[in-house]
Amino acid sequence: MVIQAVHVPESAEAAVTYSARGAWIMGGGTVVMPLVNSGAAPATELVSLRRAGLGGVEVRDGVARIGAAATLAAVGEHPGLSFLRPALRTIASPTLRNQATVGGNLFVAQPYGDLAVCLLALDATCEIAGPDGRRDAPVADVLASGVGSGEVVVAVRAALPGPGVWHYHKAMRRRLNSAAIVTVAAVTRTADGVVTFSRIALGGVAPRPVRAVSAERLLRGRPLTHDVLTEAGEAAHGDIDPFDDAYASAWYRARVLPVHLRRALLP
Ligand SMILES: Cc1cc2nc3c(=O)[nH]c(=O)nc-3n(C[C@H](O)[C@H](O)[C@H](O)COP(=O)(O)OP(=O)(O)OC[C@H]3O[C@@H](n4cnc5c(N)ncnc54)[C@H](O)[C@@H]3O)c2cc1C
Repeated sequence: MVIQAVHVPESAEAAVTYSARGAWIMGGGTVVMPLVNSGAAPATELVSLRRAGLGGVEVRDGVARIGAAATLAAVGEHPGLSFLRPALRTIASPTLRNQATVGGNLFVAQPYGDLAVCLLALDATCEIAGPDGRRDAPVADVLASGVGSGEVVVAVRAALPGPGVWHYHKAMRRRLNSAAIVTVAAVTRTADGVVTFSRIALGGVAPRPVRAVSAERLLRGRPLTHDVLTEAGEAAHGDIDPFDDAYASAWYRARVLPVHLRRALLP
């Protein structure tokens, strides 16, 4: 379709009004604009979130609240979110990260969505504005089912993981600026040498980021050793639905998953 209007509202509520009328939401446009330029946009109107007041990043009392229109660069620059920097550095290029937003990262199809994998591991909450008002939803639900008609994600909230419990690893064809073969993000706590809690999210191994619940179950009460993590990686095969693309085959993704789970969790 050919775009006939681009709206740049100054509030989330105004963005919802346009979205409810069928305009396509645009954060940074790094995914939207190529589709617009190729004539593959699903709508004739765009609604940009750039001036809707959704770009703030706050960290207070151990909780981060990140506006959906905050750029990936802004998130990476925030001193309270330095644990996310290694993950953000693996996403595209600095130019893209200056443009790409947190909200947009939740809705891109695989093999992208690396920050979304982190947000799933953090068990983040999405704040959503819609024609019927505001609501909160777990990021897991938004990744699984999207948002309703006319709804816009306005922010994500997550508790900070605390020192020593956050793990991230992205396997790529190149060292930087390449799509995921496997992305692993995890919050894992240990006491007396065994795992007491783990929340593991995987990217690149299913059409959307998924929790490795089988691996989480297997790790509980066990030490974080090479052998236990290999077992957990094998168990995680029950949680994935890998695919072929230009970067790797489904077979390869499944085969190397235990290796990358181990690399993520072993210091
Ligand atoms: C060359 C290149 C390399 C890339 N590499 C990576 C990578 O390594 N890792 C990675 O994760 N991604 C990658 N991406 C994908 C993309 O740039 C990022 O995922 C980015 O975060 C998308 O954000 P955006 O704001 O540009 O999304 P947009 O293009 O603005 O939007 C993407 C989708 O999200 C919807 N959307 C946006 N904001 C909201 C909102 N607040 N509420 C509801 N719906 C919304 C839009 O309607 C659209 O469907 C790459 C893209 C390119 C072009």
